[in-house]
Amino acid sequence: MPPLRPDDASRDWASDRQKGRAMTGGSRRALILDRDGVINHDSGFVCRIADCHFIEGIFPLAAAFTARGFAIVVATNQSGIGRGYFGEQDFASVMDWMKSEFAARGSPIAAVYHCPYHPTAGIGPYRRNSEWRKPKPGMILQASADLDLDLGRSWCVGDKARDIEAARAACVGTKVLFDPAGGPLARWNDYWVVPRLADIIALLAQHEADHENEKITKINGFLTMSADYQAVGPDDEL
Ligand SMILES: [Mg+2]
Repeated sequence: MPPLRPDDASRDWASDRQKGRAMTGGSRRALILDRDGVINHDSGFVCRIADCHFIEGIFPLAAAFTARGFAIVVATNQSGIGRGYFGEQDFASVMDWMKSEFAARGSPIAAVYHCPYHPTAGIGPYRRNSEWRKPKPGMILQASADLDLDLGRSWCVGDKARDIEAARAACVGTKVLFDPAGGPLARWNDYWVVPRLADIIALLAQHEADHENEKITKINGFLTMSADYQAVGPDDEL
């Protein structure tokens, strides 16, 4: 299957209808990854397999999310195509190889979305504003529609502010900024900042544990309410 991209870049992918569907319609959780700077080191417009070097911890990260039933999705700005630095086929070749590397480790990539356009540096038809270009949420919303995602329970990992902005605009539940040069794991506003990809696995484990505790608390609360109801039931009949 060729890489997915919008048939009509002028389409309003961030419409309220689309957002509403993205937020409420899906059932599957996803780990939505930026590519350059998250999956592979960003040496600048990576377009050859020989220049693609994986970042330490990316495969354990994918494995941890795959084990919990998350779909692995890649959403990546690729204005190098629009700028004329490399072609769609170069990108497709790198991604075919990357997908095979993930699949071989038991964490297949469910879908890849890329935006080749750039509003000022694109050449010819590639010079345009696109709802798919981050910080806009088009790629994430399209992934949600295609894969029946529950974005509120999904995670997004990027290395740039625009990755976080796109995830926020798509109402992704957990947003993580990967900053290898930054300080220790920290919470900023509505997103996490981590210096290592392994930190995200720890965050996931904590998140899942908190969720389980929340469920247990709710069940206990319900049982207590039920017991109270039974206790007062006969009095109500008097
Ligand atoms: Mg990046």
